[in-house]
Amino acid sequence: MSTETNPLSHLSESEMNQLIERYYAGEKVKDLAEDFNLNLKNNQLVNHFPAKQLDENCPYCSLNLYQPYQPRGGYGNDKKYCRICEHTENTWRTCYCEGCTKTRIQQQQEKERIDLENRQKEQEKLSGAFEFLKNLEAVSLQELTLKERTALGAYSRLCLSDDLTYLKPVLTGNINFSPTPEYTIECIKTLANRNIILPSIISDPDHFSLDSDGSFSYRMLQVHYELNIEEEGLNKVPLLDEVMSPNLNINTEEAFGLWEEIALHECIESLKYNVQVTLNHEIQIGDKTVWTIKEMLKNFSVSQIFYIFYSRTTYALRWMTEQGVYAKHAANSIIGNSQKYADRAIANQYNIKGSWRSHNTLPQSAISTFFFDTVLKIGDDGFVMPPNIERIKRALKVEDNSPLDHAGDDNNTPPPTEEM
Ligand SMILES: [Zn+2]
Ligand SMILES: [Zn+2]
Repeated sequence: MSTETNPLSHLSESEMNQLIERYYAGEKVKDLAEDFNLNLKNNQLVNHFPAKQLDENCPYCSLNLYQPYQPRGGYGNDKKYCRICEHTENTWRTCYCEGCTKTRIQQQQEKERIDLENRQKEQEKLSGAFEFLKNLEAVSLQELTLKERTALGAYSRLCLSDDLTYLKPVLTGNINFSPTPEYTIECIKTLANRNIILPSIISDPDHFSLDSDGSFSYRMLQVHYELNIEEEGLNKVPLLDEVMSPNLNINTEEAFGLWEEIALHECIESLKYNVQVTLNHEIQIGDKTVWTIKEMLKNFSVSQIFYIFYSRTTYALRWMTEQGVYAKHAANSIIGNSQKYADRAIANQYNIKGSWRSHNTLPQSAISTFFFDTVLKIGDDGFVMPPNIERIKRALKVEDNSPLDHAGDDNNTPPPTEEM
């Protein structure tokens, strides 16, 4: 405040002290103005008081801080400040004085140092955990189930690095590993839990979290893996050949179960896709839906079920549009209507024409391609035929000449529904 405009500038120090004292004692401003000969605008007095010197010191200059006087019974600017370095306290604003700026930089550097130290500690602990993984015994290929061999082969074909040393994260494949995220997790989890694949140290450390006991967990679909398998007489390249182009002694029932499983997930994928693009609704797949699809797969191929879902979704959309029912309600009608349609087709011996796979929207997944083309070598029959044990036997006889003609296979029925 410049002295020219300060109406108190003519007061001596002791007059000023008296004025302040009397102001806070509660005397009327008008009376004070008269007694001290003040030319006040709008009865503003407190604003013209000089800042009061506080007993507190500036943390940087060690000189007293100052603070403006407050209006009687009201609130005003009570910011404490240093006259030398302009440091301020008591304010919600960041102080940009030299001292505070330096302190902030130091605190930031300290924080970065601690963060770095923590990261390094984590890395060290993580390498400890990887040491432990290195010592795990390799799993013999012979011990793997058909599902594990299929998942491993499909994953390797999809994600093996160019230098053949590791598997890239399953999510980075150019096509989906399996028809549904749930099935992908299930397959990768099986391989990882059996130590057939081990998380690799080249993975992004952010995908790991360490527990206090030194063990760690990780994001299964986002880490790199190393293969932890062996086969007598096979070194690296022939071993990888055997993984990716396996020569298997296949058990028909195991193969039938896997056919059903992959077919089920292809149908779920198709149902979810149809409902999503047509009704803009994310359908929840419950036990009843799974059971219904399994029932339909006893008589219909995945291709035919694709068609059934497509046509029933179209009906549901019409229903939703014409009758104004909720998308969720319309979506929930699809599975029941599909089952009815399938039953009607059987009763009336309709020949349901199948849909073909759309290479743009629902391309065949890696595990499906690998299983039908490479393992069973039945190609599109896996898509255009219902899961069929006779077809498997035929394929295995032709391809393998192995004596798989067990009496009793003919009477095999698909697994009971409580398998869900
Ligand atoms: Zn200061
Ligand atoms: Zn400051």
